[in-house]
This record gives sequence, C-alpha cells and structure tokens, in this order.
Amino acid sequence: MHNRQLMEWLEQHLLQLNLESTAIDYTEGYTRLGYSEEERKAMEVFESIARSLHMSVRKDQAGNRIARWEGREKLPPMALGSHVDTVKNGGAYDGVAGVLCALAAIHQLQLDGFVPVRPIEVICFAAEESACFGVSTIGSEAMAGMLDKEAICSLEDQEGLTVQEAIISAGLDWDSIQDAERQKDDVYKYLELHIEQGSRLEHAGKQFGVVTAIARPVRFLLEIIGQTNHSGTTYMDERKDALVAASSLVSFIYHRAKELSQSEKHPIVATVGTFNVSPNATTSVPGFVELGIDIRSVDDSLKSTLGKEIDHTLKDIQKEYHVESTIEKIVDNPSVFLDENFAKKIKDIGEKSGFTSMYMESGAGHDVMNMAKKWPAGLIFIPCKDGISHNPKEYASLEDLAMGSTSLTHIIKSETQ
Ligand SMILES: [Zn+2]
Repeated sequence: MHNRQLMEWLEQHLLQLNLESTAIDYTEGYTRLGYSEEERKAMEVFESIARSLHMSVRKDQAGNRIARWEGREKLPPMALGSHVDTVKNGGAYDGVAGVLCALAAIHQLQLDGFVPVRPIEVICFAAEESACFGVSTIGSEAMAGMLDKEAICSLEDQEGLTVQEAIISAGLDWDSIQDAERQKDDVYKYLELHIEQGSRLEHAGKQFGVVTAIARPVRFLLEIIGQTNHSGTTYMDERKDALVAASSLVSFIYHRAKELSQSEKHPIVATVGTFNVSPNATTSVPGFVELGIDIRSVDDSLKSTLGKEIDHTLKDIQKEYHVESTIEKIVDNPSVFLDENFAKKIKDIGEKSGFTSMYMESGAGHDVMNMAKKWPAGLIFIPCKDGISHNPKEYASLEDLAMGSTSLTHIIKSETQ
C-alpha cells in the first residue's frame, strides 16, 4: 500500500472514530467518558470499520469490543488494542491512535494478500481513562482478571453517578462483568501502540519508542496540624504555622526527587498536586494543611525510599515548627515490566523497516499494564507534538501514524505466520 493512500485511510478513519465528518476539533477537543453514550458511539464506529475489514466483532461482559480476523489454524490470537474513551476535553489521538493504527495494519496486510496462520484481534477497551470515576483501565482489568468489583462499585462521578450505575446504563450486566476475564491460553501476546504523551522522542529525534516498563504511583495523603491564630497578635516564636511546615516539606520532596533521579538508574518523579490550607485567611496563622503526593518510578524500591524519607523529614518538621501530622498511603501500585524479548523484537523489526527507535519508560498507565500481568506484552510509543496530551491541542502527524501502522504490520507478520 502506498504511503499516501495509507495516510488518506488513516485521516478518514481518524475523523470517523472521533465522530467527525470534516475536521478534527483542536479547540474544544473530545469528551467521551468511559461507559458514556459518546464512548458507545465511537465503539460502534470501531465495530463498523472492523466489519468492513471482514473481522467478526463481539462485545464482552465488561463492554470491551473484540474484533477478530481468523487465522488458518486454531491458535491463541495475537491481540492488539487500545481505547476510544477520553478525558474531559481531551484530544483526538489518546487511545484512538492505537485502535486506528491496528485497524490500518489489518487493512494493509489484507491488501498485501497476507493470510495469517494465527488469528489476529484488535481490542477496543472500555473505560481506560480515570477522568470520570477516578479509576482507570476498567475494561482491561476485567479482561486480565484483575477487576475488584466491590472496590469500584460505589465510586461516583461529579454528578453522583456511580461506576455500577454507569456500567448498567451502558447495557451491561453488573453481576457478570468479571466474566470478561480471559484465560492464559486465550491470548498469545498483546501489543499496544499509543501516543507518547511526553516529548522524549521529539527531543531525541527518534521515530518511535519501545517501552520497557510502566511506572505506577504511590500516593500519600498528609495532614499537618498546627494552630490557627491571629496574624497580628501571635508573636513569631509562639506560632504553630501548618503552612510554613508544609512548604518546607513540598520543597524537600521536589529537590529530593530531582537528586535521586540524577543519582539512581531509573528516574523518579514526585508531585505535591493538591494543597488545602485552612482557614485560608490573610489575618490568620494557618492551622491546618492537607497535601496529596504522587510518586512514580519503575523502581518500586526507590519509591519506597522516598516515601520513608518523607516520613523522616515530616518528623523533623514537626519538631522544628511545633506541629502535628498524619500520613496515609492511599495508593500503592507496583510498577509493571513489559516482556524483554518482545521489546527487543519490536525494536529490531522497526529498525529493519527503516524507522529509528529508542527504549523508554512510560510515566503514564495504559491498558497494556494489565494485559502484561497475564500475557507477554509490548507497548510502542509514537511522537505527539510538543508532548501535549489530555488537551484539545494533542496532535500526532499522519506520517507518524502511518509509520506506527506499518511497524505493526511487520510485527504482526512475524508473530502470526
Ligand atoms: Zn490512552
């Protein structure tokens, strides 16, 4: 297939999957929340494109759509996939790029007259983003048999709709969503293509990234309790200022993560992303601060080292500023390593096809992290302009989508014949 024709195919189907007829909306972007009407419509487009490629499509108990191209033999399928849901006012490529490039790869293979020995699947996972309920990758967790239904059922979106209600309103049976689990020998390998959502490829001048590991977060919720008092009458040596104490911790976290990233093998990132001061009044010494900390690295021991250091620093801060504190670990997800051999193979095949590449880590979670718990799995990143994502301006070029899709055809060929 000519590259020009491939890019035209990609452009046309990129519009369709975003439910557009003429142009991508780079101003408002797209809001297709997990298990919403908008996600369902995009999934219907996915189904119709897959059917036009002579694939059968089924919907599983968790609402994932599984398109399948039968092979000559009854073997576990090579699966590809991603998602079509978005965050609020997200971009046109996060998730869609993976589904689109996988379908384009099937199209290219069929035009080439390729007949797979092993079946090939393209999976459109349900509810990958956590935008709505604060819980992500529901569809792929269910498929990998990791879904904790009880833990998520009563989580609510901003309008008070629960996960359970959203799933039921998407036409699914709450009691059977865990039956979406597939067994080890139901899938051969899983491969996902995704936009990078960062700018390391652009900076390195490489065409695609082969992801070796996905950094998962540890999150803490901290309270610093001082004493609220009059800002005019409380002498400096009488104060129990929770904000001053908290500020010194924020600085410590930032600088220590920077230092550790320089001295250790794997980088670590740490963010104080929420900060609530009380009473938040100009005439009051702040008596209370709550902070939310997110720490990520593929090196779990490094995350725990920083966690312990935060704990120690907090004790020093208590003494220095005469405050009390509490610290609670609210999330502790171990990082995920992807299949080393598969990664090497993906890199070799891509480079043989003439594309430059680099190994890298992912700071964001993707469906592949769940699939990797059960099956050998790989993740390919293609560049996205200026690293902007979860934003209407998110953009990946048709050239890069074509490159991604062509790489997928070579990998599929080597895995299915
Ligand atoms: Zn995504």
